[in-house]
Amino acid sequence: MSKKKYVYYFGDGKADGTGKMKDLLGGKGAGLANMVNLKFPVPSGFTITTEACNTYFASKKKYPGGMWDQVLANLKKVEKSMGAKLGDPKNPLLLSVRSGSKFSMPGMMDTVLNLGLNDTTLKALTAKTGNERFALDTYRRLITMFGSTVMGVDRMVFEKVLEAMKKKKGVEEDTDLNVDDLRVLVDKFKVIYRKETGKSFPKDPLQQLKLAINAVFDSWFGDRAVTYRNLNNIAHDLGTGVNVQAMVFGNMGENSGTGVGFTRDPSTGKKKFFAEYLIDAQGEDVVAGIRTPLHINEMKKKVPKAYKELDRIYNKLEKHYKDMQDIEFTVQEGKLYMLQTRVGKRTGAAALKIAIDMVKEGLIDKKEAVMRIDPDQLEQLMHPRIDPNFKYSALAQGLPASPGAAVGKVVFSAQDAEKAASKGEDVILVRPETSPEDIGGMDAAQGILTARGGMTSHAAVVARGMGKCCVAGCTALNIEEKKKSFWVGSTTVKEGDTITLNGTTGEVIIGTVPLVQPEMTGNFNTILKWADEFREMGIRANADTPADARAALKFGAEGIGLVRTEHMFFEGDRIKAFREMILSDDEAGRRKALKKILPMQRSDFAAIFKVMNGKPVTIRLLDPPLHEFLPKTDAELREIARELGVSFKKIKARNTALHEFNPMLGHRGCRLAITYPEIYEMQVQAIIEAACQVAKKGVKAIPEIMIPLIADVKEFTILNEMTVRIATAIEKKNKIKIPYDVGTMIEIARAAFLAHEIAPEADFYSFGTNDLTQTLFGLSRDDAGRFLPYYIEQGIFEVDPFISIDKKGVGALMRLAIDSSRKIKKNMKMGICGEQLDPDSVEFCDEIGLTYVSGSPYRLPVARLAAAQATLKKKGKKKAGSMA
Ligand code: PEP
Ligand code: MG
Repeated sequence: MSKKKYVYYFGDGKADGTGKMKDLLGGKGAGLANMVNLKFPVPSGFTITTEACNTYFASKKKYPGGMWDQVLANLKKVEKSMGAKLGDPKNPLLLSVRSGSKFSMPGMMDTVLNLGLNDTTLKALTAKTGNERFALDTYRRLITMFGSTVMGVDRMVFEKVLEAMKKKKGVEEDTDLNVDDLRVLVDKFKVIYRKETGKSFPKDPLQQLKLAINAVFDSWFGDRAVTYRNLNNIAHDLGTGVNVQAMVFGNMGENSGTGVGFTRDPSTGKKKFFAEYLIDAQGEDVVAGIRTPLHINEMKKKVPKAYKELDRIYNKLEKHYKDMQDIEFTVQEGKLYMLQTRVGKRTGAAALKIAIDMVKEGLIDKKEAVMRIDPDQLEQLMHPRIDPNFKYSALAQGLPASPGAAVGKVVFSAQDAEKAASKGEDVILVRPETSPEDIGGMDAAQGILTARGGMTSHAAVVARGMGKCCVAGCTALNIEEKKKSFWVGSTTVKEGDTITLNGTTGEVIIGTVPLVQPEMTGNFNTILKWADEFREMGIRANADTPADARAALKFGAEGIGLVRTEHMFFEGDRIKAFREMILSDDEAGRRKALKKILPMQRSDFAAIFKVMNGKPVTIRLLDPPLHEFLPKTDAELREIARELGVSFKKIKARNTALHEFNPMLGHRGCRLAITYPEIYEMQVQAIIEAACQVAKKGVKAIPEIMIPLIADVKEFTILNEMTVRIATAIEKKNKIKIPYDVGTMIEIARAAFLAHEIAPEADFYSFGTNDLTQTLFGLSRDDAGRFLPYYIEQGIFEVDPFISIDKKGVGALMRLAIDSSRKIKKNMKMGICGEQLDPDSVEFCDEIGLTYVSGSPYRLPVARLAAAQATLKKKGKKKAGSMA
């Protein structure tokens, strides 16, 4: 028999809830073990490891050798500790069987409570507790949960019968049903079970246990768990642990109950216990949003001693973990039991506040605070909110479950949300309550509105994790799912009507309310300031206008990494002059048109230099394929013919001649300047003259002139010489020295392979990873959208290489280019200015040794944080390495 340990009894000594043990036991198992070690009241139990789960899948759903025996041996220990036995006809032990993986996946996997009940143990439970109502209530819960979770019966079949019973009796809550009602329900549920599964409800508690363990294992690859992991980038090979634990009962009357809570407010981060409680209920009722929970003060009133104990424990837990905890607990006849502790999910705003407060409280240091913030969460804080100057009246008020604001058309199912979103429509998903099956629709919607459930309901937790606006528990809403409408008082809202949600206040508003971008708060800037203290890589912005440059500075840019000069040619009269230039068939004609453009370019550059005073500005010379500028209509062509004083026919013929079959690989970038040098000459003149002009006013311009799309160093050499010649002449004329550099883009695969030939010639280079991806993959960046999503879905590509750097191919080539260049020029300035600025790509850029990253101004906060985390991780690894 295998000696491998697949089952750990809670508090087994070694199970201390950290590092490897968390991987092995899953978050829930590790937390429970840890709470036992801290001597908190935890019902006895054991954890089947994630390794057992993985082996189960690897061996065609067979338990690993010895696992079941270990389960039985540990069950004995639980029985001994609880003084009750599973299936015992006099003193039965009941069990909960719950999942728990390394990363919390709220509600995505399966749970079975009250396991061990059958007709015999039901009687014993009644006799033991003297509470037949409780025993029957527990039994009907088991049949429902076991039926739906383990056997796959639609839960609604049971719920409908329960609802019908409540309606018949004229009562609102399940707790208002009496013993006779429950007895009828149990019988009806057994019939449903048999009808739906073709089998009787299993009497043997050990068989129940085995089936429940299998169901939890199987739920690891359930649809909703897989979707959740895909959405959250969680690996599929981690497996889930299974926690088997003695039941304690929150449904034993008025002095029993169940609750969930966060040690700090997960929406705002305020240091205040944020919990909800349900009297006479089991945990599933809170999480599923079946009943709307009460404020935790109700617990204080009903069971003050248990509340005091909870207060002591949650404070200790937070100090122990040095982080905000998400806890679950149950009170059985006045006695508190802890059922879970884990690091709590929080909004971006709360994450910042908690991290900063914990530094002030001395619990963590600044580095830890910076590491704690998920860079994607920073983006939440840049989400829109309702214009504070706009006056509106709300239709209804729910709970402010996840902050921000959202406007969209109402839909009533997750599928409809996904369908509408795929057509580019903004929708608000309205549900009585959400369940894990709705996850795809929640992701697709702009906001989520539910009629039932509290601040810790599924909708609230998931929406906060997604950084999505959510109003939950809006009880005024009367949803008629079939009719696809809801009404509040005399107002009816139908599918397709527009509503606005205010997730910060919980308001639901009819129609479209104007939204504004949020100001960044003090906490936002504090974390970024700390991040800047640790990061090694520079941060620049891609910016084409003075307004972009100002935004770039606001978001922390240390320079501009890319000015795409062609964007300046589209405005007003410029496009006309530019068209004249490209349609001229001789140099003289081109020079005449370029003369018109020169003063415009010069003033553009001067304005950007003024904003960026003292910071480098990388200006890329003209790059895009010319067809982007060509006139599309005869009317436009006629006007140009008139301007140039040539015939329409001649212009039309020239226009046709300029047509290219594959413009992206055609006459563009430096190739234009090799054939028509006067274009770049004008641009260089404009740059250096602008720098001289602002220098006279005390502004320090630091231009970096960048030549795009080179494939061979000779292209660079020719254009570099031209640049220096023109710049030197202008410097001389103005008697001013401009600290300019000349460099190039590495965006053609050949240039990357030959970067070591370019490095000695160029002052810097910047990877254009948009074109580099295009040329290395051989796929058109303008057309790949048709099939790339399919490739991602099929797992052929892990990520869209235009969104996140393809490390294996494009990344490897970048590394090769950098390494070969640094051998020649150790401190060469190297950047990246493609669109890939996600945290993963930023970390990779740091790893391969880029000097800076550059991207859209609005993405810079995320990049600053990601860069700091990359440095800290690298240093952490080095330190661990040197200690080993
Ligand atoms: C690139 O190719 O990555 C780049 C930054 O240039 P553009 O997107 O303008 O081609
Ligand atoms: Mg490019």
